[in-house]
Amino acid sequence: MAQVSIRDVCKSFGSVEVMHDVHVDISDGEFVVLVGPSGCGKSTLLRMVAGLETISAGTIAIEGKVVNNMHPKDRNIAMVFQNYALYPQMTVAQNMGFALELAGKSKAEITNAVGDAATILDLHSYLDRKPGQLSGGQRQRVAMGRAIVRDPKVFLFDEPLSNLDAKLRVHMRAEIKALHQRLGATILYVTHDQIEAMTMADKIVVLNAGRVEQIGSPLDLYDRPANRFVAGFIGSPA
Ligand code: ADP
Ligand code: MG
Repeated sequence: MAQVSIRDVCKSFGSVEVMHDVHVDISDGEFVVLVGPSGCGKSTLLRMVAGLETISAGTIAIEGKVVNNMHPKDRNIAMVFQNYALYPQMTVAQNMGFALELAGKSKAEITNAVGDAATILDLHSYLDRKPGQLSGGQRQRVAMGRAIVRDPKVFLFDEPLSNLDAKLRVHMRAEIKALHQRLGATILYVTHDQIEAMTMADKIVVLNAGRVEQIGSPLDLYDRPANRFVAGFIGSPA
């Protein structure tokens, strides 16, 4: 059973349809990268999986259960955005534990979960700092920490590295891949960066103007692009 199953999904804003019959299956533990030019619908699709945007037609199921009308907080999903939106007045530890506090977890549970996440992300020496005292890469790790503490089934990343400089971006790619392996997590990762897609994905979904052009492994797409758009976008010779 697919962990996340997106079936014939359409999305309209007013009378404008921006997503047309999108079909994607994500297996348990798979790292799927959704790639495509700006405005093609990547964030909209992610937001529909998260429940932050309604679905105009089709179904999205998580672990076999249709979630079309399920509240975001009941979906067992965590999302990491491009703008980390950390709370500036809270410490790193408070930022990471806040969602658990809202969920009514005990102080001990929160401390444990934050401690575990800090270990995974190497954040122990920063737990008492405020976000303003951190580097871009550290803030990015805190944003991931906020997702990890909730122990979600599925992680959604929306261009999490696009605000970082090139060198840090390369470093963080490796960190996110390591995190994926360590947690055995199922990940849907959005980027408009072809290199990021090719180096990180188990499976790439190429989206163009609200339609899926091709789904395949990085090598499949490179060796056998389905059409000129994919070939041009991935940068392969065909
Ligand atoms: P991407 O993340 O790939 O850059 P988006 O998912 O943000 O693309 O946007 C896809 C399309 O939907 C774009 O044409 C965008 O203008 C449109 N769109 C996104 N959100 C809204 C909204 N809230 N209202 C109207 N149009 C929107
Ligand atoms: Mg976007």
